[in-house]
Amino acid sequence: MILPRLFIAIESAPGETRVAATPDTVKKFIALGCTVAVERGAGRSSGYGDEAYSRMGAELVEPGNVSAWGQADALLCVQSPDPAALARLRSGALLVGLLAPYDNPTLSAALQSAQLTAMAIELLPRISRAQAADALSSQANIAGYKSVLLAAAALDRYFPMLMTAAGTVQPARVVVLGAGVAGLQAVATARRLGAVVYVSDIRPAVKEQVESLGARFIDPPEMEDKPSESGGYAKQASDAFLAAQRQQLSDQLAEADVAICTAQVPGRRAPRLISEDMLDRMRPGAVVVDLAVAQGGNCAETRPGQTLDRNGVKLIGASDLPCSVPNHASALYSRNLVALLEPVLKDGQLTLNTEDELIAGCLISQDGAICRSDVLTPEGSN
Ligand code: NAD
Repeated sequence: MILPRLFIAIESAPGETRVAATPDTVKKFIALGCTVAVERGAGRSSGYGDEAYSRMGAELVEPGNVSAWGQADALLCVQSPDPAALARLRSGALLVGLLAPYDNPTLSAALQSAQLTAMAIELLPRISRAQAADALSSQANIAGYKSVLLAAAALDRYFPMLMTAAGTVQPARVVVLGAGVAGLQAVATARRLGAVVYVSDIRPAVKEQVESLGARFIDPPEMEDKPSESGGYAKQASDAFLAAQRQQLSDQLAEADVAICTAQVPGRRAPRLISEDMLDRMRPGAVVVDLAVAQGGNCAETRPGQTLDRNGVKLIGASDLPCSVPNHASALYSRNLVALLEPVLKDGQLTLNTEDELIAGCLISQDGAICRSDVLTPEGSN
């Protein structure tokens, strides 16, 4: 029997420091009946050396060895390689990763022309059975944690309340916008550092979670056209609702030392919750960390990857925080991939059961045919 051959290449996206398999998960895949080839240096930026992969049974291949791509049954990645690299894979090969499928015609064209089967982990349904494979959660957790550390390092004040011989210092006041996975981790981290935390979200279900972490929940505006939710995700709010929400948040932000922005709506532009007028009211020295910046930003004037000073308010456009904690981000992400692929690698074969809602949810193409046209538009169809 020919064993499925997995391939881990060096990540090529600018700024990407993570890797899709660690020595530990290579060992797990080999125990599941696979062979694993790893490009030399693939784990270097996340702290996993070639020798460690080799000790766990990986075959090390030279970077740029095109035949290693052609021999792979599955390429495991963090972000998708570019179309020229994808074209080196054999037709029918499986691509698994955070493929950024929403409105991505380049990806759609590349999958079709190389006739690839692809699983975009972003689309995994948020059900309990999928939790171990949920890479959005594992990475958002890291982003939420790191956002607070960045804010604390940039702030011109202490986070905790302190009673010193020179007098008492009041705790920092933190406003967290959005209480999903990243937001809740930001709340927990800010609370551990001793801040007073206020949280805004439009899903009433999170109120209890926020309060159990010792933060105060800002109830969403009472309006008829409240945004609904489906599958635990918020739906897009109307312009009128967002205007009412901004008005409500304006006073909170005027008194805040830190705002952590994590509000998102999957596949849509992030809601704009902090306007320029609201920034004008924030005190010099305050810090805004915008985790939604790559999706258009919750805050006016933040820019991906940049820290700007706006009349003394620091605006941090934090687009890639998991990449700043690459060792743990890779360890958790690669375990997510093992959990996702374990059922696919049954009996030493690579078999996709499209009846399984986990597989069907994230399968975006099969042998080049686009199967989630609600997310990814097939090339030539419009
Ligand atoms: P997300 O990144 O899509 O959004 C982050 C938060 O922003 C959400 O809580 C959302 O309600 C909020 N938001 C959207 N518009 C807003 C606005 N105008 N103002 C304020 N907040 C706004 O969400 P996520 O972190 O990926 O989590 C989504 C949901 O999935 C959560 O309920 C989470 O608990 C749930 N979840 C379930 C599982 C599971 O059961 N397997 C795993 C992970 C997450």
